[in-house]
Amino acid sequence: MKTMTCRQLGGACEEEFHAGTFEDMASQSKEHGMEMIRKGDEAHIRAMNDLQSRMSSPEMMNAWFEGRRREFEKLPKDE
Ligand SMILES: [Zn+2]
Repeated sequence: MKTMTCRQLGGACEEEFHAGTFEDMASQSKEHGMEMIRKGDEAHIRAMNDLQSRMSSPEMMNAWFEGRRREFEKLPKDE
């Protein structure tokens, strides 16, 4: 398992996610983000808007995603 924070994944807080694969990590962070936005959390809504504005094409979205994946791969495994 590895640990990343909401902020490391483009979010807005220090909530930690634990996952063995990047796909699992990404889906946990997405779920958390959706939950916070549903609650009307302004910081997360801003982070989401900011992210979307940087992802105007599928290529940019892929590049961003791959960047996060590389960060995930570099992380040490949790003890
Ligand atoms: Zn968060």
